[in-house]
Amino acid sequence: MAVRLGGTAGSVGVVVKHVRSLLLAERVLIIGGGLAGLAAATALAPRGFRITLLEARNRLGGRASSFQDAASQQLIDNCQHVSMGCCTNLAHFFRTIGVDGFLAAQPALYFMTPDRRVSRFAAADWPAPMHLAASFMRAHFLSPWEKLRICWALWRLRRAGTQGDDPPFADWLARHGQSPRMVARFWGVVLVSALNETPDRVGLRYARKVFLDAFLRHPRGFEVEIPKVPLGQLYGQELHQWLERHQVEIRRQTAVKHIRIEKERFVGVETRSGDQLESGCCIAAVPHDRLLGLLPAETVERHAYFTNVRHLEHSPITSVHLWWDRPVLRLPHVVVVDGIGQWIFNRTMAEQSAGLTKGGAGETNGAESGQYVQVVVSAARQFRGLGQAEIERRVVEELRRLMPAARTAQLRNCRVITENAATFSALPGVDRWRPVQLSPIENLMVAGDWTATDWPATMEGAVRSGYLAAQAILALRGFRERLIRPDLV
Ligand SMILES: Cc1cc2nc3c(=O)[nH]c(=O)nc-3n(C[C@H](O)[C@H](O)[C@H](O)COP(=O)(O)OP(=O)(O)OC[C@H]3O[C@@H](n4cnc5c(N)ncnc54)[C@H](O)[C@@H]3O)c2cc1C
Repeated sequence: MAVRLGGTAGSVGVVVKHVRSLLLAERVLIIGGGLAGLAAATALAPRGFRITLLEARNRLGGRASSFQDAASQQLIDNCQHVSMGCCTNLAHFFRTIGVDGFLAAQPALYFMTPDRRVSRFAAADWPAPMHLAASFMRAHFLSPWEKLRICWALWRLRRAGTQGDDPPFADWLARHGQSPRMVARFWGVVLVSALNETPDRVGLRYARKVFLDAFLRHPRGFEVEIPKVPLGQLYGQELHQWLERHQVEIRRQTAVKHIRIEKERFVGVETRSGDQLESGCCIAAVPHDRLLGLLPAETVERHAYFTNVRHLEHSPITSVHLWWDRPVLRLPHVVVVDGIGQWIFNRTMAEQSAGLTKGGAGETNGAESGQYVQVVVSAARQFRGLGQAEIERRVVEELRRLMPAARTAQLRNCRVITENAATFSALPGVDRWRPVQLSPIENLMVAGDWTATDWPATMEGAVRSGYLAAQAILALRGFRERLIRPDLV
């Protein structure tokens, strides 16, 4: 049965939608209010399902969220999150809830080396994959010979098979004549921030995907989008209003303690406060290690589907938030080549473009004259065992080397935040351990960036997983509808 719904609002579509609403009106419990759970809710609610979403914390957004910082009196993100032009499902989610205007697309990327020289990367009017060729050829941090070798390797990467094995990318790079300097100055710069892993710990599959989707397939693929507002606002009022309009019941501070399974079917959940909730269907959109703790041990042990998840490994991200008494960075961001952190974000500039520093949240922190800058250090294992003061010292020292204005500026406030389990690692062969959304428990779906999405751990991956879980529920009821959005064309 093929039904077309939710696309352009034709009268047939509207009628079918109402018929479906009447037929279904079925309750779906979603556990977890991160992007995966939220995306599933936005997909199912307009299609006639009654959604109850249970979130352990008092805020939505999961790992992509903000909190009120006592010292700066500001809503700050646990870490700057960026999207890219190639994240088509995340863009769809933003449009659905009406927050796409909160993102500032960066038409150019600024790469800086320790000697403070900057190369600007912007797309020329040439078709992909040549749109970045002119910028790349002008890049100051690679020699002409290195650029030729990298171009050749990129050409080979485009043609590399993706079936079967997912060999270590480091081996592939070595086989294709990429020197440690080329890895450090080109491949690593891109991969560490995109995959939150070092090139020696990732497989060919996701490394290839990053370069293809972001740089080679479409001129807009590489466009980084930076939220102009804190994540708490990006996933704030508009999202809540959308959920309310679609009668999605949100229960915050409601942590699930047990998922009840009887005779290989999901029957309900028990919350930590002892409430029992039942429904015909459930999407568990919690981190993978949490999911195993919620399920009955015998269910987990009976299915390799669940036990496989234990093989997934985590990688940490540290963000260092710095408030200076005057501007130290004139650019909107910097991609650091050969540095401790990979990105420096000019949060004041981003928030000014949303009008936040004029009487908004930023002003309370003196942002009018000062500047709020955030440094993101991905795959931050180098900081293990170091105290916050030492991390701050190293990062500030680097900033003062890179930005002369920071040498005389006063640092008013600094906050170091480390997320130890920021993302799963895209280790070689990682997809073996990532489950599809339809679990062996027929009426239980799983979602989350760690499930099988064909994407690494990103907001795009999380949204995809939510859409795929919703799609699986529709399919079980005989409605074949593709919810995943096409790639950029
Ligand atoms: C520091 C950092 C930086 C990042 N930077 C980027 C970036 O720049 N770009 C990008 O695309 N991605 C980035 N990511 C990755 C991105 O945040 C995640 O991929 C995405 O948010 C995952 O969403 P999710 O819904 O799968 O999981 P989560 O966000 O982890 O959501 C799971 C939710 O389940 C809830 N929960 C857990 N247990 C229970 C329970 N028992 N009962 C009820 N609720 C429960 C949690 O509270 C949480 O809200 C970053 C992540 C981190 C940590």
